Amino acid sequence: AIPKLTIKVVFLGESAVGKSSIVLRFVSDDFTESREPTIGAAFLTKRTTRDGNTIKFEIWDTAGQERFAPLAPMYYRNAQAAVVVFDITNEHSFHKAEDWVKELHEKAGNDIVIALVANKMDLLNVQGTILDEAVNEEEVDSFCQREGLLYFKASAKTGENIHEIFQTVGEKIPYS
Ligand code: GDP
Ligand code: MG
Repeated sequence: AIPKLTIKVVFLGESAVGKSSIVLRFVSDDFTESREPTIGAAFLTKRTTRDGNTIKFEIWDTAGQERFAPLAPMYYRNAQAAVVVFDITNEHSFHKAEDWVKELHEKAGNDIVIALVANKMDLLNVQGTILDEAVNEEEVDSFCQREGLLYFKASAKTGENIHEIFQTVGEKIPYS
């Protein structure tokens, strides 16, 4: 029989870090500077292939605002993967990401695959000048090693590493 694979992925992270932009880049290869904030959560799907078989991503793109945080367990409880996003220029968003990872380890299933994404990497290289990142990358690296996370540096704006997030996460999920 042809193996069938549907992968449920939930996006978590502070408001305005670029969760919806990453999902839009992956699903439609598109980007917009002035996105409307997500209300509650948005559901999107995308089919790709793995080993010549079709796999389907079912993506829950949650809203980052605190008032929506109580809804998050509804989305991550049934997910095989969680993508936690922060903005590389915003230190506070990294600490929120640490909180999400902690919550996932405490409350999500044991087998959930967790990826951490440093988004907006394009902002570090403006007009040929390398700007200092607000988030210390050594701190991020040691956090990822300690917690056993996949880690990606990405930009929804340029498309850098966006497909790799989904491809690598997808490869971690066994066929069932
Ligand atoms: P969300 O609240 O986490 O879903 O964030 P959005 O996807 O709505 O993005 C918030 C803002 O950041 C929008 O103005 C986006 O255009 C912008 N943005 C998202 N990703 C990137 C990126 O990779 N680089 C830059 N420069 N801006 C981005
Ligand atoms: Mg959003």
